[in-house]
Formats: sequence, structure tokens, C-alpha cells
Amino acid sequence: MKNVLVIGGGARESALALKFHQSPQVDHVYVAPGNPAMTILGVEPVGIKEDQVPELIKFSQDHQINLTFVGPEVPLAAGIVDAFQEAHLPIFGVTKKLAQLESSKTFAKNFMHRHHLPTAASKTVHSELEAHAEATLMGLPVVLKKDGLAAGKGVIIAQDAAALDDAIDRLYEGHPDATVLLEQYLDGEEASVMALFNGQNRVILPLSQDHKRRFAADRGPNTGGMGAISPLPQFTTDQVQAAEALVDTTLAGMQEDGLSGQGVMYIGLIFTADGPKILEYNMRFGDPETQVLLPQIENDFYQLVTDLLNGQQPDLKLNGQAYACFVAVNPDYPGSELKQVPVIVPKDWPIGTWLPAGVNQTENGWVSSSGRIFSVVEAASTLSEAVMKAKKAMESIQGVLDYRTDIGFHAVKS
Ligand code: AMP
Repeated sequence: MKNVLVIGGGARESALALKFHQSPQVDHVYVAPGNPAMTILGVEPVGIKEDQVPELIKFSQDHQINLTFVGPEVPLAAGIVDAFQEAHLPIFGVTKKLAQLESSKTFAKNFMHRHHLPTAASKTVHSELEAHAEATLMGLPVVLKKDGLAAGKGVIIAQDAAALDDAIDRLYEGHPDATVLLEQYLDGEEASVMALFNGQNRVILPLSQDHKRRFAADRGPNTGGMGAISPLPQFTTDQVQAAEALVDTTLAGMQEDGLSGQGVMYIGLIFTADGPKILEYNMRFGDPETQVLLPQIENDFYQLVTDLLNGQQPDLKLNGQAYACFVAVNPDYPGSELKQVPVIVPKDWPIGTWLPAGVNQTENGWVSSSGRIFSVVEAASTLSEAVMKAKKAMESIQGVLDYRTDIGFHAVKS
């Protein structure tokens, strides 16, 4: 029997840990750091933080871990995979070098241009003066992006001249030589395609759609993600194939650049009138998209990942169901003042409907410990039914939690 270690502590890691736990080959799943409520999934939170790499290596050796799977971007960008590989420990995730496709927007843009991958026209600038000059040349609306990991919160879309001035002021305040990416504004509907890969072997998962904005109808500030749906009935087979082709072009480009490796690729894209264009790469699973992707997979997930690690091409089997995920947040999220909201969840829900993220145990029961508290996931034969079920489940939860009531609105018109 096998032991698995999942790195991370959110609802994405709850979904990953549960998927490994469901493998008939897997005996024990540990999650580092995990969160105390994950025990209800049958997995064990271990409390070691995701950036404590030497401690994680020691844990992995002491507990005979057969596979470590990395959830979040920060440890990948810090080189956790390189460190595990040096210690000859099996780990699935991208190396520090490959993680740059996510951690550096300019690295990603250069990669896309070099390999003729469709993306927004862009220009990198290094001063306030240059930013004004290039934005004027590009025309409005224009998108401004700070280089580096920003958890989806480092992007400003300037619709008019006043907003542009304000954005440049903000980006350069205290950082006079900041690297900023200016980008042409792309118009269309967003979707994500995720794949697990190792060289040319890859498993492309169905399209999914996140809901990044805090409030209904895609209004309010960007967040870590308020809900997700998958698959996406609003797109044609041709559109889905065009999105999937981007994965293969990317893999070919990585090989050409000598960047081959293994891990998860997430392409955030916009379906424009000229076809799909890449908004960004993430080199790990999305949260909350993972919560609606993994349950569609019928394969033994441990086998699927180890086959890829061993250079084999797995044969993906999907269950044909549609999934919706609603994310419960503290009412002030993405603010972070309010903590410790009581979390009371019906006890009779099947395993996997409730995926804890920021949940702590106290004498008085579960309480929230971060902005995004948990995910609720429901399945049905149609997406509209799955959305209805997830919404109803969320409504049945008592307490002062908040959530977006319109998850799936692009796909399911009410
Ligand atoms: P990113 O962190 O690059 O994924 O950007 C976050 C969000 O900003 C995306 O999900 C889009 O909604 C929006 N965005 C980013 N770049 C563009 C663009 N070039 N055109 C339109 N919207 C964009």
C-alpha cells in the first residue's frame, strides 16, 4: 500500500487529498499543512508549512511517502520539486525553472511570442514615463500587470485616461523602477484548460470556469476564486479543441526550450472573435477549478499520476457528470479583518460535498481561519442541475458566511 503527501492547505488540497484517498492502492494521505477539518475526509493534516522544505523532505523520508503532489504555486516557485528530486524523492510538480511560466509574466510573454502562441499584444515597461508613453501608443482600454506572483490580484484594467493615470501612480508608488506589463485588452468569455503532463505525455482535463470577481455578475474586486463549473456547455467542440491544442503547442515549446519536466499546466484563456488567446499560465491546479475537475476523473488518480511520472501515457476516463462548486467566504473577504466565523455544516452530506479550506477546530466547533473558508461541490447530469444543487446546499448552511449566488451564470441562463 502507498502513502501520499499533498502539499497545501486549501479546498483544492482537500479535493486532491480525497482523490488520492479514494485510490485502492493508497493507504494513507497526509496533507502539509492541511487544515484540522480535513480529517473528515479520511486524510491527515500534518501542520508542516508548505515552505518548510527540509522538514517536508524529512517527513517524506520518515513516513515512506511514495508520492508527493504539490498544490499551490509558492512552494513550486521556491523550488520544492528541485529539492525533493535532489533527495531522490518522488514528487509531482514543476521545477523552479518551469514555474517561471507562472511566477514571471514577462517570462511567460516571451515564451508565448517565441512559440507563436496566441496572446494579447504587450510591452514591458520599467518606469512611470515609459508606462505613460507605451499605454498611449497601445490605446484604451489597456491592462496593467505587475511582474511576479500576485494571487490573481495584480491586474488592473484601465478603461479611461483617469483610470490609467491612477493605475500607473499606484504601480510605481514607492517602486520607481518596477517592471510592469502593459497588455492589449481582450474581449470575450474566459475559461481554463488544465493538464497533467510529463514531456509529451499529457492528460488534458475538461474545460472549467472560475468566477474571480467577488460579487454577482462579475463585479467587485478580484479574489482567489468564488466558484467554478465544469465542463462548459456554452463552447463548441471546435472551441474546446482549439483550447486543448494550446496545451500541446505549449508542451512542444517547452521541449524546444529545454524546459521539459512534469507537473500541472493551467492555461487561463479568453475566447475572442479570433479564437482562444492565452491570458496566463499557472503551473499548478486552480482553486476552485480542481474541486470540479477531479471528481470527473474515473481513473485511479494515484495510478494516473505515477504513470505520468514514469513516462507513460494514461488513458483518461471521465464519468460524464457536470459539476458546480460554490466557495463560502468571510463576509468582508477579500478584506481580512473578520476571522473566526462559526462554521456549521450538515453532518449527513456525502464525503466530497464539503471541502474545507480555512477551517479551524475550537472548543465550540469549527470556525473560519481565512477569507475563503470552504467549497461546496455538487454533481448532476446537467450543469444547470448541478448549479441548483450546489446553491441549495449552500443555502442550507447556517451562519454569517457569504458566497456568490450566481456561479455558472455564463453557462446557465436563468
Ligand atoms: P491574470 O492574473 O493575468 O489571470 O488576470 C486576472 C484577470 O484579469 C483575468 O482573469 C481577466 O479577467 C483579466 N485580464 C487579464 N488580462 C487581460 C486582458 N489582456 N484582457 C482582458 N482581461 C484581462
